[in-house]
Amino acid sequence: MDESDLLIQLSTRLDKWRKTNSGTYTCECPYCHHNKDTKKKTSAGFFNSYGSIRFKCHHNLCKKSAPLSEVLKDHADDLYQDYLASKRDHSKKINVEDQAVLAYRIARKMKW
Ligand SMILES: [Zn+2]
Repeated sequence: MDESDLLIQLSTRLDKWRKTNSGTYTCECPYCHHNKDTKKKTSAGFFNSYGSIRFKCHHNLCKKSAPLSEVLKDHADDLYQDYLASKRDHSKKINVEDQAVLAYRIARKMKW
């Protein structure tokens, strides 16, 4: 599961999720919930930064800025575990002779 897959999964859990014309995503900030009581344009969102996805909130009192992995860790622990597993799988591709590792990877894939 790569970052864009994880972002799609995360999008179902965030309020006011919307894709913008420029291809980035806006949503209610899961940290400060700034837009909860207003009808104003959402001031937080996700964008691509040098090939990885980052979150940024533009509200003056929040200004949260974090990589996707940190948002997952804070707000969607199950997705964060998937993220960690995909990182582990990636590094293990170098040494696939280990049958136990291979079996583990196949089991993970079937679960997906
Ligand atoms: Zn915020």
